[in-house]
Amino acid sequence: MSELQSNLDRLAGHLKQFEGKVLPHRINGEDVISKKTMESRSPVDDSVICDVAEGSAADIDAAAKAAHAAFPAWRDMSGKQRKKVLHAVADAIVARADEIALVESWDTGQAIRFMSKAALRGAANFRYFADRAEAARDGQTLPTPDHMNITTRAPIGPVGVITPWNTPFMLSTWKIAPALAAGCTVVHKPAEWSPLTARLLIEIAEGAGLPKGVWNMVNGMGEEAGKALTEHPRIKAVAFVGESSTGSAIMRQGSETLKRVHFELGGKNPVVVFDDANFDRALDAAIFMIYSLNGERCTSSSRVLIQAGIYDRFVAALEARVQKLKVGHPLDPATEIGPLIHPRHLAKVTSYLDVAKDDGARIAVRGEAGESAGYFINPTLYADATQDMRIAQEEIFGPVLTAMKFGDENEALEIANSVAYGLAGYVWTNDVTRALRFSEGLDAGMIWVNSENVRHLPTPFGGTKASGIGRDGGDWSFDFYMETKNIAIALGEHKITKLGV
Ligand code: NAD
Repeated sequence: MSELQSNLDRLAGHLKQFEGKVLPHRINGEDVISKKTMESRSPVDDSVICDVAEGSAADIDAAAKAAHAAFPAWRDMSGKQRKKVLHAVADAIVARADEIALVESWDTGQAIRFMSKAALRGAANFRYFADRAEAARDGQTLPTPDHMNITTRAPIGPVGVITPWNTPFMLSTWKIAPALAAGCTVVHKPAEWSPLTARLLIEIAEGAGLPKGVWNMVNGMGEEAGKALTEHPRIKAVAFVGESSTGSAIMRQGSETLKRVHFELGGKNPVVVFDDANFDRALDAAIFMIYSLNGERCTSSSRVLIQAGIYDRFVAALEARVQKLKVGHPLDPATEIGPLIHPRHLAKVTSYLDVAKDDGARIAVRGEAGESAGYFINPTLYADATQDMRIAQEEIFGPVLTAMKFGDENEALEIANSVAYGLAGYVWTNDVTRALRFSEGLDAGMIWVNSENVRHLPTPFGGTKASGIGRDGGDWSFDFYMETKNIAIALGEHKITKLGV
């Protein structure tokens, strides 16, 4: 039996839990179904997987109240106990990693070769923050001659987590694990286009011993359920991953209740290849960072800036490789690019073919949509682009790379920084001084030199400009999910200014 067939057979078993049912919300440890429902379809063949409860403001209210009621006990539980529960969640994710990967592939169109890693990374996120739960509240003392200042940190309260459709399982764990480790309770609103693995995740967490109400999940549309979550007075902070324009809307919606917000938003990340770079490694990394995960990745290297001396050779090498990328069924282990998430997104990505033509770029590899019912598309390579073109400025969020030529370092920096976004940057050079100088000038939250995106969880993750507000990872996640307090205790009878004497 082929590996594809074996994957399909196992998937069929896992899909039985969803078929013919309405995927419910999970509020205070109970399944809840709304009056309205929406369909979840597979990008692979446009088939309906199941109906999904479409959450209303009333569902969000119930979830927020459950999170509020569960908060004191979870907050006051020792870090050691929380650590134990969160490690149990990680163990249970590992035990169901195959199921998570298969279901996520089917629900999002992402190739299985990447999804099996994403499921395990979800477990790693839980383990990482579990190990830090005990120290999350630690503060410091800052003495003066007159006062002993003691800083403490406490969880902020119930928080809202709103996630996008790209790698939804991994991203949900990345936001929810630190919130729980900090002692916050959670209401999660998963993306409407990929709701399945959020259900598996909360089921796993409750099965691993998470008390009811600590984590609640409400499905639904952003404009209704998402909006209600960001406006709810019981919700103290909103961690959001998604589009920059949605971040703006959330900021407006949360302003009335003075929500603390944390945004991981879009990107138009440059990979800058200097003449002296290791040509083959830079080529491998540039291709990997834009064509893996269907290019539906916030840190994708969607612009490649190539120095004039190697431009023609590098673009020719890109063309040859891009034509050979394997588009196919996401459950086939050989597949490198699966179908895009949704017909609307497919239409957006392909619309740039006309935009590029009108702007005068060269379409070196033309990625058209396929004939099948699924939302397949071949990869695209635009060459000879200039920084003013829309393909060089806008986040396309598909398997689409825009190549541009630069002369010297200053020009490269100007092009790299000319976009609204500032999430990630990739620099390829063997000159260490230039690498440091260029990285210093690059307006981005994360820069990799002579490397693709390799994450080390204690390091800060996040972007500048329209790419976000705040950082995740290490202690940065706890800074967002916790309130810092200073207690100043007088050490003696220092002079107090007397008034009214
Ligand atoms: P999106 O902004 O359309 O939706 C994200 C989530 O927000 C969904 O759950 C949606 O229902 C919800 N939402 C929509 N409108 C809302 C509103 N008014 N109030 C509250 N919630 C609302 O984003 P998407 O299309 O699902 O995801 C793709 C985007 O996410 C891309 O721009 C990508 O770059 C970005 N992204 C960023 C990172 C990062 O770490 N910086 C990571 C992954 C994805």
